[in-house]
Amino acid sequence: MTFREHVSIFGRIARMLFCCSRVYIGCIVLRSFVEAILPYVPVYFSAKLIDGLIEGRSSEVLLTYAGITVGSVFLLKMIQTYAMAVERQKCEELERSERWMLSLKTMGMAYASIEDSSVYAQRERIKKERQTGYCSWMFLSTLEMLVFSTVSIIASLAMAGSFLAIDEIPEVMRFAIIGLLLLTVVLQVWGSSKSELALMNFYESCVDANVYSDKFENYVKDYHSGKDIRIYGMEKRLLRDFMEVDGKLNSAYHQSSKKQVICTFPAVLLRELLKIFAYITLIGAAVSGTLSAGSIVKYVSCLLLLLNGVSRLALALQRTAVNNTYLKRYFSWLDIPNPMYKGSLTVEKRDDNEYDVEFRDVSFRYPNTEAYALRHVNLKFKVGQKLAVVGENGSGKTTFIKLLCRLYDPTEGEILLNGVNIQKYDYDEYMAVFSVVFQDFKLFSFSLGQNVACAEHYDADRVEACLAAAGFGQRLEEMQEGLQTCLYRDFAENGVEVSGGEAQKIALARALYKDAPFIVLDEPTAALDPVAEYEVYSRFNEIVGNKTAIYISHRLASCRFCDKIAVFDSGRIISQGSHEKLYAQTDGKYRELWDAQAQYYV
Ligand code: ADP
Repeated sequence: MTFREHVSIFGRIARMLFCCSRVYIGCIVLRSFVEAILPYVPVYFSAKLIDGLIEGRSSEVLLTYAGITVGSVFLLKMIQTYAMAVERQKCEELERSERWMLSLKTMGMAYASIEDSSVYAQRERIKKERQTGYCSWMFLSTLEMLVFSTVSIIASLAMAGSFLAIDEIPEVMRFAIIGLLLLTVVLQVWGSSKSELALMNFYESCVDANVYSDKFENYVKDYHSGKDIRIYGMEKRLLRDFMEVDGKLNSAYHQSSKKQVICTFPAVLLRELLKIFAYITLIGAAVSGTLSAGSIVKYVSCLLLLLNGVSRLALALQRTAVNNTYLKRYFSWLDIPNPMYKGSLTVEKRDDNEYDVEFRDVSFRYPNTEAYALRHVNLKFKVGQKLAVVGENGSGKTTFIKLLCRLYDPTEGEILLNGVNIQKYDYDEYMAVFSVVFQDFKLFSFSLGQNVACAEHYDADRVEACLAAAGFGQRLEEMQEGLQTCLYRDFAENGVEVSGGEAQKIALARALYKDAPFIVLDEPTAALDPVAEYEVYSRFNEIVGNKTAIYISHRLASCRFCDKIAVFDSGRIISQGSHEKLYAQTDGKYRELWDAQAQYYV
């Protein structure tokens, strides 16, 4: 990374966090300033006090020095305590607002990005890196160190700079102390950079381990995987993997600690030598009467504080450089664009629901894959028509729907709505045209009514009507709290666990409630019992009304009532037409599938 990049990343995170919580950042700067200045007050006034004592100053003067020392330390401590208290409170606030910002980003991403495994992995990695202390937290701690060390260095130089002007100390000694000081600084910078590198390597392995152990924990706590873990006795295998990661982490920790001790040892040793040398020189000057006892205390203390400041500055710069590489990943995730929002055309609102949809030579590959999921798909249908999409598993039916609903854009070819490429429409408006029940639909831990309406406030009568149309009417009557009944027990003790079939009916009701001109049902009866399935089939036209309905199923019997049937095979539409027309093709795939299934219905 170039110096410019480092500066730009540092500036960006500073601006971002400052916007999230000005007070918090302000408090960190103030507290670091106070903490840096705090040791200099007693050093300065203690030197004065000692000199005053030796010089036999009046007790009034001595008491004034003592008073100023105690008073100013007290005042600084109060400021420090106050800033720390505010920080504790604001830290929570900052964490929440940053997490919220990340969630907003995720929600604003194109679906293609959400489903993209590399984007997901990046998101998980960032999450773990934040938990391990990188990104914002590392920035805040380095900001603190930068302020502290800068103030400390300036104060040390201001207070002890006069050391160079003491003519009575032989030049050799003065330069020896300066040389020793510089050498200690160099060693300290070198040692801290090495030890920091070891620590960073350890943290890096922590990130990997955290990613893994999180996955493990999710398996263990998620009741969906709980059944399989128990039935197939996977505890030992999962535990062994977990212990292995844990063991590696422990040994990495020991290695890193050993390295840190070895790297910092020379600087510590030199620092002590410097201290001894400085004392000897300064005491020599004091004995010859050129330096006061108070000055010795002041110079030695400042020398050590200067060393501390310089090593902290080096550490802060080192950590900033490392953290910037993490922040770069963090920002590259935040900067993932959403290409879906390019269009601006309004979707024509037609009372007659007359929409024309056309797939024109559409091919599609999922991100990061080589194989085409759809190849040269050509299809036309009118709103109001009932289209059935059939084919074996993996033939591309769901992908076809994902493209139609603009969850993805085609790799080649185009999809037209009323003759206009759908990418030219305003994305939100275009999405409003569709109601879809995907196979892997999701219900939320909200009330039943909110699940159907997808809103906090809703038209209860309409929600009930949609639930009844979807075959959930009787079950609703049995629910004591009606539409207020909470689904699942995440947030409500008396929440209801619905069965797969019931969930599918609620999802269908949700699609009906949206009342969009297009209704797409992807295997809508897969989880229903035969009676409920028959009910949906027989009332299908009544349920979808005059909407354009696309019905995906591998159960061909359920597609007979559709105006048009498109048969998918290995990502291509191999035939399309009415049931009668397709069945008449004696060597066609449709007839083959139909006959294969028909024998079970005989
Ligand atoms: P169907 O709905 O007919 O069962 P899909 O449309 O789900 O088939 O899948 C078509 C092909 O695309 C399959 O080969 C499947 O493995 C692949 N596929 C589906 N979803 C993804 C995805 N998110 N990433 C990569 N490949 C996918």
